[in-house]
Amino acid sequence: MHTSMLYARLPELGQLEALVKHQLPHIRTVPVETRKLTTVLLDALPIPLYAVSLGAQDPQAPGLVIVGGVHGLERIGSQVVLTLMNSLCQRLHWDTALQHKLQAIRLVFLPLLNPVGMAKRYRSNGNHIDLMRNAPIDSKEPTAWLVGGHRFSKRLPWFRGEIGLGMEAEAQALVDLIEQESAHRPLTLALDCHSGFGSKDRLWFPYAKSRHQPMKKIGDIYHLKELFFNAYPHQNYIFEPQALHYTCHGDLWDYLYDRSEAGGTHLLPITLEMGSWRWVRKNPLQLADRLGLFHPMKPHRIQRVLRTHLTLMEFLINATYAYQSWYQGELSQCYADTATSLWYPDATPLNLND
Ligand SMILES: [Zn+2]
Repeated sequence: MHTSMLYARLPELGQLEALVKHQLPHIRTVPVETRKLTTVLLDALPIPLYAVSLGAQDPQAPGLVIVGGVHGLERIGSQVVLTLMNSLCQRLHWDTALQHKLQAIRLVFLPLLNPVGMAKRYRSNGNHIDLMRNAPIDSKEPTAWLVGGHRFSKRLPWFRGEIGLGMEAEAQALVDLIEQESAHRPLTLALDCHSGFGSKDRLWFPYAKSRHQPMKKIGDIYHLKELFFNAYPHQNYIFEPQALHYTCHGDLWDYLYDRSEAGGTHLLPITLEMGSWRWVRKNPLQLADRLGLFHPMKPHRIQRVLRTHLTLMEFLINATYAYQSWYQGELSQCYADTATSLWYPDATPLNLND
């Protein structure tokens, strides 16, 4: 396949490779690194999975990882990440405040985790496996029928993969990257950009596997939410545990979070779930196109979505830089109590000192 045909089919890869080839090499103000984590095959054509890092090379600097395109139909997630990368590339030439921040923190971008799914217009990867159901972790609670992940058949969506086969290359690449990145940092925040659920933009945090068990770092998550909502009172996000809507097996962030707790590292993952149903309501013709359920089709609507989330991501950059102002602070227990009574009324209170 000729490159121009590939880019026509997968414009997000075209944008990303343009950035890698033409923009990143010109940044002189902070360290820049592009890695190919692995390759996946699109009809026998190898496609690299890129991770781009900007900023501090010290493995003990705080970090922020931003991921997009886990689900192939949710193109807008990749575009949101690419928009931020573009904006930072432009600003790094002159914005001394940003340069200063990136001397102290590390940003890592994985804008296109599932290029084959995106090119083929699948939610799953090229092997028909849903990457967000592919982690070796089971919910012990009743999960949503099919949506919660299943092992019946790869012909049905939300397929977890065959038992015992290990993770798919894309899922493994994400897990390895996060574990490597977060191994020595005092805090690693992660934002994973999805779309498709409901009509509002939501920020979800683990667990996806349990409605009743709060994550141990729920006080810090709640604190982060308070900082964001107080600074931006007119924003429109709903902040909540994912399990409030449905529980599922095999969530990569549940898996990574549990491993981080077990290993004593500091990972706080958040999923941005952009509500797409209002795009459909405003433009019912979108229903005619499968992609339209997950991706805004009108240019002005795409622009609005790309603009909207820059504030959130900018906030996360600042929260990473200033992690000592809030992370594991003296208010953590108090926020943990508030969050538990709000979202997990039947849970036994967490004692962070245990
Ligand atoms: Zn998704």
